[in-house]
Amino acid sequence: MALIDFHCHLDLYPDPHAVAAEATARGVYILSVTTTPTAFAGTQALAPAGSRIRTALGLHPEIAAGREHELRLFEELLPQTRYVGEVGLDGSRAHRDTLDRQGGILTEILELSANAGGKIISLHSRGAVTAVLDVISTEPRAGVCVLHWFNGSSRQVRRASEMECWFSVGYNMLASERGREAVAAMPRDRIIPETDGPFGLRGDRPAWPWEAVEVVPMLAGLWRENLDNVAAQLDRNFRALVEEPQPCAMDLVETTIRRGNGEIRH
Ligand code: MN
Repeated sequence: MALIDFHCHLDLYPDPHAVAAEATARGVYILSVTTTPTAFAGTQALAPAGSRIRTALGLHPEIAAGREHELRLFEELLPQTRYVGEVGLDGSRAHRDTLDRQGGILTEILELSANAGGKIISLHSRGAVTAVLDVISTEPRAGVCVLHWFNGSSRQVRRASEMECWFSVGYNMLASERGREAVAAMPRDRIIPETDGPFGLRGDRPAWPWEAVEVVPMLAGLWRENLDNVAAQLDRNFRALVEEPQPCAMDLVETTIRRGNGEIRH
């Protein structure tokens, strides 16, 4: 199967060039998310020419409040990518006092994405699941929302599914009972693998992007499905997601899918 890591912070590994080179050699499809617009250019430069690494433009909710001024740079850079992330809301204890400002920033990012014709958006929702869904629901033209490490209840997962959200799911999420419950409620045709490396861990070290494939046996157990069928499902999901028609002409040029040899550029 294709190696896919749809949420990874390539620029935050101790040796990002080495990880990018290894991922490129292994042919991993990576959505390389960023935490500020300022980091976008440098992170994009980590992707070697011809690699399957795509860089998303982000403003992480844990640091967004106080960086409203970076929204101007966000707007300026947005035409350069069809991917937005990491964005969202964080309602955990350390950040809940800024939730209002985070909400204003997320709303503006979704509006900018809508005005740009729609983007593929990787969203954080720790401690703010309902709030994130509420904000997303105000701007349905923003594009395709991919909820990363979404630890909602089964009911919240169903609400997100009805809103046509996707879900990126990693090893750490599937290792917890609550995470497995959430994943079990997700539509199988809207799940894609992620590591959230270097924050996503294998034991006590950061997960590598090519290890996102380790969700396959875990999903196989959860779905009582064989490994080949799970791998084929995830491949189909990835194709369907990146193939999603984008109204922006530049994005259509970027999206070249050659089914014959399984080569995808997205
Ligand atoms: Mn992340």
